[in-house]
Order: sequence, then structure tokens, then C-alpha cells
Amino acid sequence: MNLNNEGSKLQVENLDGVCIWEMPIAADLRGRFFKAYVEGSSSSFPVDFLTFEHFFTESKKYVFRGMHFQGSPHSTTKVVSIVKGKAIDFLLDLRKESTTYGKIQIQLLDEIAPVSIYIPAGIAHGYISLTEGTIISYRQDKAFCSNCDSGVSGKIVESYLPIKLIDTIRSDRDKVLKDFANFEYQSKCNL
Ligand SMILES: [Zn+2]
Repeated sequence: MNLNNEGSKLQVENLDGVCIWEMPIAADLRGRFFKAYVEGSSSSFPVDFLTFEHFFTESKKYVFRGMHFQGSPHSTTKVVSIVKGKAIDFLLDLRKESTTYGKIQIQLLDEIAPVSIYIPAGIAHGYISLTEGTIISYRQDKAFCSNCDSGVSGKIVESYLPIKLIDTIRSDRDKVLKDFANFEYQSKCNL
């Protein structure tokens, strides 16, 4: 865990099952090479993960996305990696049986020392971009399901943001997500 500058004021909990690792980097006169994942668990890539979908988000400065997750019966596990820029990443444990239920984990994402975060199913994810054109990579182990796609309002992490949540750039959908206190997940999928 390496939180500097923006990170120093942040309170950090380690959520059960979350794993964060630095990507190996090779730099030369051309630039940098950094490896996001190798199949199978190893010291550099400590989680075994099968990717079904791989996509990227590009975000303007002070875009806030979150707090998103895909729940049962199509709950997904993710690996999120910083590619370009800088962001503060937030995780919220929604697993009622978890010892860290309701807790938040915070991780500074910075292209200078890029990390990947393994996010188990049942943990909501969000972030605020701190630079123009921040690029984040998402790997998911299952297909997107609009009926199981859900989220909690970013208000729960507002005290950790460098600006007010209302001043961030958000989607219409994210603006109307319910507060954690009033949130109850329900899938629209037929079981
Ligand atoms: Zn579904």
C-alpha cells in the first residue's frame, strides 16, 4: 500500500479477499512496458483469474464513476488496473456475511507505479479521476448483465474526495443511485 499526497489523509481498511499488486515494469529509451496479468497465480500475479470481458474507461479530470457491482445470479469478479493518469479508487464491501461488511478500502492509482486490484464478487467499486484522460482497465470473469448491474451512491466516499461529489462529472444513472443506508440489492433476472 503506497498512498502519497492525496492519499495521506485517507483512511484505509483492507477488505476481505481484495488483493492489490504492483505491475512489473521494464523501462528503456522507448518508454515503458508493464504487464497486467499472466494466467495462474504467481508472486507477480497473485490471483488466478479467468477473463471473460476486458474493457477500458477513459475519464476527464474529476469524473466520478461508481459505486458499481454486478450481483447474483450473475455476480462478477473484477481485476481493475491503472493504465494512464491518476485516480483514487474506492471499494465498498456489500457482502453481508463478510467480516468487513460496510467497510471501505481506498487505493491511490498512479501510472508512475501502476497496480492492479482484484475485486471479489459482492464488492462495489468506484473511483475519481485526478487527471485528464485517466485510463483504467477492467477485466471481468462474466458477461455484463443489465438485470444484475447495480450500484450504491458515491456519497458514502464523499469525505475522501478532493472536491464535492456534486461538483464531479457523473452519469445520470450514478446521480440517482441509492445511499448505502437505504440500499437493498435485487436482481431483475429470473432465477
Ligand atoms: Zn443477471
